[in-house]
Amino acid sequence: MFGAMFGDIVGSRFEFHNCRSKSFELFHPDCSFTDDTLMTLAVADALVNAGGADEQTLTREVICSMKAIAAKYPDAGWGLRFSRWLNEENPQPYQSFGNGAAMRVSPVGWYARSEEEVRRLSRIVTAISHDHPEGLKGAECVAMCVYLARSGGTKKQLLALAREYYPEIGSYTCAQLSKSYRFDESCQGTVAQALTCFFEGTDFEDTIRNAVSVGGDTDTICAIAGSVAEAFFGMTNLQRLCVILCLPEDLTPIITKFREVFRR
Ligand SMILES: [Mg+2]
Repeated sequence: MFGAMFGDIVGSRFEFHNCRSKSFELFHPDCSFTDDTLMTLAVADALVNAGGADEQTLTREVICSMKAIAAKYPDAGWGLRFSRWLNEENPQPYQSFGNGAAMRVSPVGWYARSEEEVRRLSRIVTAISHDHPEGLKGAECVAMCVYLARSGGTKKQLLALAREYYPEIGSYTCAQLSKSYRFDESCQGTVAQALTCFFEGTDFEDTIRNAVSVGGDTDTICAIAGSVAEAFFGMTNLQRLCVILCLPEDLTPIITKFREVFRR
């Protein structure tokens, strides 16, 4: 999940000012964490607190973590509809297929111990809000890729898996996207593009640079590409430290707790 947060922070300053280049300063004073980081942490927090519990308990826990974390950071770039959902007393799914489903799901791929568990947990943490089939699909694809990558899957295996969800992957390149891709907040218009950045990436940082270069909803494209890139390539301690230094202190205990659990 460090990969998602790293991507979110690096991509944040390009969301409304796409640079469409691979040549830029990774950590600039204008970079900041956004909703992608916060909701990733909320999913991680809920999994630690109730990952092994029944569906009802985990559902309650995810909603509770999301609301609690979001309440502390009202200016983190929330989407309008999701922001309304967060403020409801008893939030209900609203058939969303927004890319928020895919940017927050990476902890599932680290926490789960089988493909079946990945699918089950991904569905539960996504269906609380993004219960449209495209929302559920986008999240499951990313969670499954994270799980396969961290379990030692090859790029060839990952490509085959990703194409089961998005057959168009492989039909365009990052260079082509860089010229033609436009801002799109849906899973259908984000996940395949973000994964293309990973498949073309030569290492973790190169993946993030690809993701900035294609433009669009850059913090989220970078968060999704970074999720899988971390699981496949790994990250250096320095890269992880860069993330920690960009986060307020009250959020770091969630990371510590989560890492203790999935290392068991
Ligand atoms: Mg964001």
